[in-house]
Amino acid sequence: MHKFNPLAATLIITAATAAVGAVCFIRPEMALATIIVYLSTIIFLPILLAILAWTQKNKTSSLIKPEVAENLNTEMIIWSDDFSYVFINKKLRTLLGISENEANKKPAVWKAFGINAPDSKGFEKIVGSKSYETRFKNADGTITSIAWSTSLVKKSKKKCLYLSTGFNLTEIKKMKVNLASANDFFNSSMELAEIGIIISTDGKKYIASSELIRMLGLKNNSISLGDFRALVHPNDRIAFDSAIKSCSSEIKSIEMRIKSADSGYHWYSYRYKSIKGTENTLPLFGGALLDSTQEHEKDALIERLAYIDEVTEIANRNKLMNAGQEIYDTCRLLNYSYWIIVLDIDRFHIINDTCGYTNGNFVLRNFAHILYKFVTPGGLAARISGDNFALILRDYGSDELPVRTVKSIQDEFSKLAVDELSSINLSCSAGYSRMPEDGDSFLEVIEHAEFALKSSGGSQSSISGYESSMHDSIIVRSELEKSLALALDNNELSLFYQPKIELSTGRLMGVEALIRWIKPDGTIVSPDDFVPIAERSHLIGRISEFVLNEGCRQNVLWQKMGFPKIVMSINFTSTDFYQTDLKEKVFEALAKTGLDPRWLEVELTESLALNDIDFAVSQMNKLRELGVKLAMDDFGTGYSSLSYLQTLPITLLKLDRSFITDIEHDNIAYEIVSAVIRIAKSKKIETIAEGIENSVQESILRMAGCDYAQGFLYGKPMPPEKLQQFFEQNLNGFNKIR
Ligand code: C2E
Ligand code: MG
Ligand code: MG
Repeated sequence: MHKFNPLAATLIITAATAAVGAVCFIRPEMALATIIVYLSTIIFLPILLAILAWTQKNKTSSLIKPEVAENLNTEMIIWSDDFSYVFINKKLRTLLGISENEANKKPAVWKAFGINAPDSKGFEKIVGSKSYETRFKNADGTITSIAWSTSLVKKSKKKCLYLSTGFNLTEIKKMKVNLASANDFFNSSMELAEIGIIISTDGKKYIASSELIRMLGLKNNSISLGDFRALVHPNDRIAFDSAIKSCSSEIKSIEMRIKSADSGYHWYSYRYKSIKGTENTLPLFGGALLDSTQEHEKDALIERLAYIDEVTEIANRNKLMNAGQEIYDTCRLLNYSYWIIVLDIDRFHIINDTCGYTNGNFVLRNFAHILYKFVTPGGLAARISGDNFALILRDYGSDELPVRTVKSIQDEFSKLAVDELSSINLSCSAGYSRMPEDGDSFLEVIEHAEFALKSSGGSQSSISGYESSMHDSIIVRSELEKSLALALDNNELSLFYQPKIELSTGRLMGVEALIRWIKPDGTIVSPDDFVPIAERSHLIGRISEFVLNEGCRQNVLWQKMGFPKIVMSINFTSTDFYQTDLKEKVFEALAKTGLDPRWLEVELTESLALNDIDFAVSQMNKLRELGVKLAMDDFGTGYSSLSYLQTLPITLLKLDRSFITDIEHDNIAYEIVSAVIRIAKSKKIETIAEGIENSVQESILRMAGCDYAQGFLYGKPMPPEKLQQFFEQNLNGFNKIR
């Protein structure tokens, strides 16, 4: 379609006028006709053109009213494919920066579509597309994007008329960029914080954040509730189910293990809540997952440090007391019953002292291991302290269970193979009680099991059940322990001395130092009543040190007073004897007091020596190296074997009082005593008889060839001042003291 163009019209008219002028000049006969045609053309052509233009204008206006299109708040072009008609509205004109005049020409259309050299392909792209996108650089450098939607509005044989409406994408793009960066920001924040998010709008299908996908190794961001639950550790599923059920507007949290990207279970803190839907939004369920494995590992370590015994790796005392009280409470609540067995390794101090801590720990670990094997569901094995252990067993109605279990433990323990301990019999003792009957709390029940253990008085491999009568004797004993410790502090212990006589001459050859506890009120406590207690409460070390030093000091004092030199005998318990620094302690006492070692004798019982024969021999040799004498006390009471006389480096054999008491009437006792004396003599070991109370016994022993005698016949154990009188009375020539 062509529009009326005044310049073209003027040119055409000028050209036509010139042509008419030329005709009139060349052919004057045709001048009139030519002028008539010219004038009629000049007059009618513009009218014709105006009519044509008016018609065209009205045709287009019938498609869309220009004033409407002009003021529409969206970019718009109406154009014909031959560009004879182009209309660009104000919004687009402003965007393109073109005047109204330029707006109805072909270049404006191409500019609007962002095409420089249009070809058929470009044209097809524009007309065939519902969102043909064009980008414009604005004056301020920003970019505007328009998506064109072009529709064919009229088609005739010659041309097609199109309407292209623009949709400004700039804002949407901005929003998209903002959204994307918000999403990126969210994802990177979650990634940095290592927080996974899981959200659902219906509680069935969940959407996982990219961080959660990474954490759990999910295939994509969509996961069903069932699939998510399957990843939760079976033991935590109940907690998970209740979290799902209890999801409310309040933030709650649980700890659960979830199978993670590395295929292992990790601990997660799951903070969750639900958000109610509104008119415009859907309800949301879900929460945030934070990997808390490290915290759990730390907690487990702390728990381990707090509740696991380092040496044996079984429960420690703390754990025992906590778990024990829980079990006790359950017993009360559900009418259950449990046994609590307290076990003690017999003579463990000897193992520790003789074989070193490494072997000691080895024994403890193995003992714990044996105990652990006897734990039944709901029970517990624990190390209370040192060589003290506990076993909690469910009571299924058999009163034999504790004894049976302990016997099996003893059996296994005795078979424990330890090279260094081959000569030591490994055994343990036990006391047991039942809860809840045997106490008002777990503490009381376990204390009562300990009472039962102590009631055996330290004998090996003992097994005792708690009886209410034990309570009082144990209380008495523990009171005694306390007052013995005080007595030591208050110097209430002193030594009495009992004379030892040479049978051939009757002279005083030595004394045995025997300890006495003299209370402030003057009552004297026998060593038989407090030495075993001292041994168990570990006060024995202090007591023995006192005896050793005091005995040496007293002997030197008598020597300095001019009395004849005699041998001072002191008694050692197994605890003292197996101390690794025994030699040093004795040497120190000798050095400190200035006593010549040959005036000191150490008495050991045979059962003590036989506990660990090899170590005993090495200890004895060390004492012998110092020049100290060694006596075997109470010979004949234990597992006496004369063959040991060959092995043990002893200098004196003390025949036990039990052989002497009835020797004058008991032929067998006489025969035994005579044989022992003979054999000892053949080994160059001297002999002494204990408990001589009358002269008949004295004569028999002298006849049997016994070297020395000790007993009430010569004198009871007496304080040092009294022994001085004894000395003085017998000073002259060491005559027979009777
Ligand atoms: P033991 O070493 O065999 O001491 C001999 C015990 O026999 C002493 O009893 C003594 O009084 C008693 N006795 C001596 N002669 C006669 C007698 O003719 N007739 C009767 N019936 N008894 C006699 P004691 O002093 O009561 O000591 C008992 C035990 O206590 C000792 O037996 C010894 O094993 C232990 N003991 C005494 N003092 C000490 C000490 O300082 N250290 C250690 N570790 N044990 C000691
Ligand atoms: Mg003795
Ligand atoms: Mg004795």
